Amino acid sequence: MPLGDNAGPHLVMPAAAGIMGEQRRYGHGGFLKTDVLIIGAGAAGLMCAITAGQRGRRVLVVEHANKVGKKILMSGGGRCNFTNIGATPANYLSANPHFAKSALARYTPNDFIALVEKHRIAYHEKELGQLFCDDSSKQIVRMLLDECIAAGVTVEANCGVQRVRKTLQGFSVLSARGEVHAESLVVASGGLSLPSMGASGFGYELARQFDHDVLPTRAGLVPLTLSGKHQEHYRELAGVALPVVETRVGRRAFRAGLLFTHRGISGPSILQISSYWQPGDDLRVDLLPDRQVGAYLLGQRMARPLAELKTVLGDVLPKRLAQRLCEQWLESRPMRQYRDAELAQVGARINDWPITASGTEGYRTAEVTLGGVDTDGLSSATMQSKLVPGLYFIGEVVDVTGWLGGYNFQWAWASGRAAGEAA
Ligand SMILES: Cc1cc2nc3c(=O)[nH]c(=O)nc-3n(C[C@H](O)[C@H](O)[C@H](O)COP(=O)(O)OP(=O)(O)OC[C@H]3O[C@@H](n4cnc5c(N)ncnc54)[C@H](O)[C@@H]3O)c2cc1C
Repeated sequence: MPLGDNAGPHLVMPAAAGIMGEQRRYGHGGFLKTDVLIIGAGAAGLMCAITAGQRGRRVLVVEHANKVGKKILMSGGGRCNFTNIGATPANYLSANPHFAKSALARYTPNDFIALVEKHRIAYHEKELGQLFCDDSSKQIVRMLLDECIAAGVTVEANCGVQRVRKTLQGFSVLSARGEVHAESLVVASGGLSLPSMGASGFGYELARQFDHDVLPTRAGLVPLTLSGKHQEHYRELAGVALPVVETRVGRRAFRAGLLFTHRGISGPSILQISSYWQPGDDLRVDLLPDRQVGAYLLGQRMARPLAELKTVLGDVLPKRLAQRLCEQWLESRPMRQYRDAELAQVGARINDWPITASGTEGYRTAEVTLGGVDTDGLSSATMQSKLVPGLYFIGEVVDVTGWLGGYNFQWAWASGRAAGEAA
């Protein structure tokens, strides 16, 4: 019998869950055997572990960080926007927009809500179908770990993976605790965003090792930066917020808030459009999307002929912004001095303001990584590799990226579930 044969289900939980992780090894010179080995104890890995464990599979999850579910803990400002009740495949970016359909249809937001309700976690809808915990994201991690315990899953924090080899029976994985032999290997190691939280390119390297294509990666759901004169023009506006604008790149548009920062622009409308923007793309912002500004200005000229343009604009835009627009780009004169065509032109610009972004804040602050393991090499029903039987990729490491608003966790749950049913 192998020295480290897995004696039975146990959970080695991280300090965050209240129990110290044991610094044990899997036998001296021997190895541990398991049915399913999952790399990464984030949202996708834990959901996959629960599902496979419930099927009676022996499951080990290894996590190189000192805590499991770090991104869940910090998500949604500490309240975890755990799903979106309106999630459909149209809310995701991927080179193959059809790939996510099967998994998303088989594990829906209602399925996750049922799990949250089973654990009596209070939640609320904030806006646009986004569901948040009333209290804390810790409840979601606790719920997932409790489900792991119930399903007999072993979770090990502080346990990185050094190398993976294919064997006749499955996979041999060298982890920080020793060698593990597994029939199925699930890669749930996430993307590159927030390296300080344990993000690594490990999943992409592993995919390449097994001849999978990895599509170019870039930061998504990320603030945009401005540079040179563009930054100078807006710098004084740092801290100014607009509750609703419409950001546009090509035919894609998002309505939500915008915030000027010291280095550029942020806020939900910018994070959303950042996933569709690439350097050189034409970014437009409708600063007053609920108003035909040209018509409004004509009306104001009648009503307040002596008022200056900056005062009139300052009634519907933040005053500092109205003033800056007039100093830098528009002239401010009493309204009666403007001809119809001039007011129409000012209005058209405010409804279609061009902003020249130079780049993004990058993975340091990005919520997600776009691109990743090419879905062409994976089964959309099970997430299994078409090249290497027994190998699975789930969650953010795969080339499926959701919008802001709970969509990314829904993909993590759904893809984790799909693999957990098959691995
Ligand atoms: C600040 C922030 C807030 C967010 N808020 C939300 C939100 O409210 N709603 C939403 O839907 N999405 C949100 N997201 C996105 C969401 O967190 C991710 O899409 C989701 O966590 C992806 O799940 P995953 O399991 O694929 O990857 P992750 O959650 O990143 O998990 C991967 C795990 O693998 C581990 N790992 C990596 N390499 C190795 C290795 N070599 N060996 C062992 N372990 C390894 C990592 O440490 C990590 O724990 C947020 C992201 C960030 C950064």
